[in-house]
Amino acid sequence: MHKNIWQPFTILKSSPDPLKVVSGEGAYLHLEDGRKILDCISSWWVNLHGHGHPVIAKAIYEQAQKLEHVIFAGFTHDPAEQLAEKITSKLPKHLNRLFYSDNGSTAVEVALKVSYQHWQNVGEERKTFICFDGAYHGDTLGAMSVGERGNFFADTFNDLLFDVEVLPFPETWLGDPDRAKKEDDVIEQLENLLDEHPGKYAGIVMEPLIQGAGGMRMCSEEFLQKVHWVNRQFNVLLIFDEVMTGFGRTGDYFACLKAQVEPDIICLSKGISGGFTPLAATVCSDHIYETFNTDDPLKTFWHAHSYTGNPIGCAAGIASWDLLIESEHLFKKMETVHSKNLERIQDHPKLKNARLKGTIAALDILNDEKEGYYNSIAQDIKKKSPDLGYLFRPLGNVFYLMPPYCVTESEIDGMYDALLELLD
Ligand SMILES: *Cc1c(COP(=O)(O)O)cnc(C)c1O
Repeated sequence: MHKNIWQPFTILKSSPDPLKVVSGEGAYLHLEDGRKILDCISSWWVNLHGHGHPVIAKAIYEQAQKLEHVIFAGFTHDPAEQLAEKITSKLPKHLNRLFYSDNGSTAVEVALKVSYQHWQNVGEERKTFICFDGAYHGDTLGAMSVGERGNFFADTFNDLLFDVEVLPFPETWLGDPDRAKKEDDVIEQLENLLDEHPGKYAGIVMEPLIQGAGGMRMCSEEFLQKVHWVNRQFNVLLIFDEVMTGFGRTGDYFACLKAQVEPDIICLSKGISGGFTPLAATVCSDHIYETFNTDDPLKTFWHAHSYTGNPIGCAAGIASWDLLIESEHLFKKMETVHSKNLERIQDHPKLKNARLKGTIAALDILNDEKEGYYNSIAQDIKKKSPDLGYLFRPLGNVFYLMPPYCVTESEIDGMYDALLELLD
């Protein structure tokens, strides 16, 4: 470990030293020791078009020369306006008000605060959020409150987190015979909750289609449609945390489009800048925005970050968005490449619960340890994969692939071959 750095998400004493990266090109990272590894997880799910993409690099360079940053209260600029226009043009048509921040956790904090205040602005006492077990919404306290509890990450801070209502997440996989039953059970619980306590719940917060950090747990489009329908009956806000699922990951531009569901708020970050700069956005419906659109300081949303709407980030976002439109065929067809490979390997005795959504594929690895985040197979794979030329980072015993969209079909095939080699 470097003498001046405190590495994130790292058990400080027993972890191996971090690998030093000197450069990146396309889907590959070049390590200081000369190894070249294929980035199969898009560098913590942010990179869309490959590392060092010249188009995004140029946009950043040009914007930095023109205007690197400016306060975003009382001032605005073209990159912020253009990026907001581009993103909202693809979202459901009532989602028109984009609030900038700078990371996924803050995008979620903004969504929570906006929903909470929205109900006060309209004179209702709705103060409790409904969320799902296994959820991950970020590492700040508000985002943690609506995320999974009862693990090393959250336990320490439990007293600082606010109370929420938790529903089971109906995770499913390819060939799961019980999917509809699991989903219907959860929908029934949701209906009962809302029915018994009318006017209590501010909103339901969820990662649509795929719970990321919770283990790439997937649910169906139909489930989201049912949640949406129930929410509508009871007038509760639906908040989609698309920090991971946004920008093509699910095989459509956004998970809400893939599921044909119209949430009231959507949180975006990670892929928003193509993985080049920190940037985030919380997009709210016109209806919510209008409840803040008054002269009353009490009904005003008093929230900002120093780097809100950073012009360099927005310029990267615009360049990345245009590349995303050009590469629609790439993120749409990746599912068939994963599918072919999952069929090939899913009967391996050490694998189960193969699942797939768009560009993201996952499987559970079986060994003699308990399944879950602390399964030591993750450390083994992390350690051995660079020697095979890959960056894999399993979530406990969950092995997943989420490469940038520029990878080739044979590169994806190679990832599965490497997994088989590691299993043996
Ligand atoms: C990563 C992630 C976050 C948190 O984003 P940060 O930029 O790491 O704060 C929130 N929600 C989801 C679904 C995520 O995957």
